[in-house]
Amino acid sequence: MELINIKGIGPKTLELLNKVNIYTIDDLVRYYPYRYNIYTPSNILDASSDDTIVVTGTVTSNANVFYIRRGFNRLTFTFETNNINIKVVIFNRDFYKRLITIGKTISLIGKYDKLKNNFVCADIKFKPILKTEVEPVYHMVSGLSKATLIKSIDVAVNNSYINEIVPSNISSKYELMNTIDAIKEIHHPSDSKRLKDATIKLKYEELFEFMFKINLIKYKNQIFDDFVVKDISEEMIKKVLSYVPFDLTEDQLSTFNDIISDFKGIKRMNRLILGDVGSGKTIVSFLSILLNHECGYQSALLAPTEVLAEQHYKNFMDLFKKLNLNVALLVGSVSKKDKEDIYKRLEDGSIDVLIGTHAILEDKVVFNNLGLVITDEQHRFGVNQRNALKNKGMFVDVLYMSATPIPRTYALTIYGDMDISMIKQKPSGRKDIITEQYKFNDIKTVMDSIESQIKEGHQVYVIAPLIENDDEETNELNDLKKIKEILLQYLPKETKIDILHGKMKNVDKDSVMNNFKDGNSDILLSTTVVEVGVDVKNATVITIFNAERFGLATLHQLRGRVGRNSLQSYCYLLSDKDSDRLKVLCESNDGFYISEKDFELRGSGDLFGVRQSGDMVFKIANLQTDYKILLQCKKDTDVFIKENIENDFANYKYYSNILHCLMENN
Ligand code: ADP
Ligand code: MG
Repeated sequence: MELINIKGIGPKTLELLNKVNIYTIDDLVRYYPYRYNIYTPSNILDASSDDTIVVTGTVTSNANVFYIRRGFNRLTFTFETNNINIKVVIFNRDFYKRLITIGKTISLIGKYDKLKNNFVCADIKFKPILKTEVEPVYHMVSGLSKATLIKSIDVAVNNSYINEIVPSNISSKYELMNTIDAIKEIHHPSDSKRLKDATIKLKYEELFEFMFKINLIKYKNQIFDDFVVKDISEEMIKKVLSYVPFDLTEDQLSTFNDIISDFKGIKRMNRLILGDVGSGKTIVSFLSILLNHECGYQSALLAPTEVLAEQHYKNFMDLFKKLNLNVALLVGSVSKKDKEDIYKRLEDGSIDVLIGTHAILEDKVVFNNLGLVITDEQHRFGVNQRNALKNKGMFVDVLYMSATPIPRTYALTIYGDMDISMIKQKPSGRKDIITEQYKFNDIKTVMDSIESQIKEGHQVYVIAPLIENDDEETNELNDLKKIKEILLQYLPKETKIDILHGKMKNVDKDSVMNNFKDGNSDILLSTTVVEVGVDVKNATVITIFNAERFGLATLHQLRGRVGRNSLQSYCYLLSDKDSDRLKVLCESNDGFYISEKDFELRGSGDLFGVRQSGDMVFKIANLQTDYKILLQCKKDTDVFIKENIENDFANYKYYSNILHCLMENN
């Protein structure tokens, strides 16, 4: 059944539903409330003036409306409850006037001032509240009424078949509610105990589906993948290592060893390198490219942005120029003619290494004998995109890199389909970045430091929370223009400031970025677009305005833009608000420690940015707060796959189809 077939949903409502991402019946019935109001009737005599209370009684006068100014009005009437006659006021609800008639029984929600005998309403319920009621609150869009939404949901729930995803033996083991009952309960809560049970069921179901998908991919990789064996000798490894101009850290070496074992092993490599920014993941991936080349295969490196692809290309060329490998850069801005040339040389095998953006994924790109695919900042690409690359060759090993350090146990669940290598150490000689919080009153201290760093020939990042701020209500927030004025006010006028933000055209972005990289500007004033992987060794200061606006993960990533060589670097967090998050950042440079803290602090509204692409969008579960359920689902899906799929190919095919559908949906 389609949404439009539901009674009460016409083209107009459909359009509104689409606006809140409701496209199917399933989207509709699973459009869950994001919170609940709980109303418990109380006695007006017991209330203190600070409490929000719910009282029920009778209207004793008609309503009067006073228009105070445009868009602002006050409605008043009198009301009797518990034999007391009180004065009631409610703001900006002049449309209630005709509903308030003498003798009518209604409930008021608000605060009562005993001395003034005055009740200030937050809302009025025309259906009196006689016992505790739990009212769902939905994210709404203007034009769509809550009544219409709920009515549509009800019709859909009652007229469509709702799948049980959780296997029945698991449901009964935990005494989980039926999905259909849970969905009804979530939209029409009967009491808080049942509502809690419903919430648990739907969370469990969602996380079960998620873990099932991951475990099935892992299982599929283990059992059904092509065998990919590479013949690797000690000499080859020695030779490759001899090209590195510095000593690798222990973690880098052990990661490289993991990769070597994967190459040699019979199954296809499916490995994730988890490492903090600047920990030296990229060099390890380069080494695996060299080793793959020694084995006679082509390699591809996929980066999420053009700037990053170019940076990898340049670094690779700088490091390994003398090896005379044929390396090509394939990004969107390459001319059509040059692209054609690259396609040709890829196919005939004369290109050894291809570095690029998603331009690599196009069908036209055909390899001669691809043997290794590396995906940088893997959470920016969805599963389907990654698979597209894997399938471009028969003997493809796959390596992912992520600069989002997360706790190991957590990684084992959400990246459960991959093997994981962690790089925790920093290359030796790196100094910790000195991180300090300053209030806006002390901005001069920060500006003095910036000035002296620029005098020494170093460069500076300044991060703005907004491109442009027209909103009067949030005028304490700084935008690019305002920050530029501040910079010009404190710094010498010959200071060269370039501006970068996400709304600029790609070519303009790249030219600003390259200008900064080449040392032609002193300050790069930017929004967070500069976040991922950019490497400018000469930059020693990053100043972040309104730092309280950003999550820990983002702040840590931003800080990683500096401290990229042996120079002492600084990170200044400008914020008038004291927060635990900023404290964590000031006390530590260790991304894994910070991610543990972020995990503890949770609820700060900042999911430590993992797997945030199309891979995981949860409607009710929260990976951090529902972590225990997630762990349970990992165990349960493991067992389920063992018992139901491992020895039964027909079953495998059945579930594999389901998996396919699940992935298509993303
Ligand atoms: P990541 O990719 O983890 O953010 P990179 O691989 O870009 O980090 O490394 C950051 C910088 O450190 C690069 O310039 C790289 O050449 C350098 N580097 C990497 N490993 C070492 C090492 N063991 N010793 C010295 N410098 C290193
Ligand atoms: Mg292998």
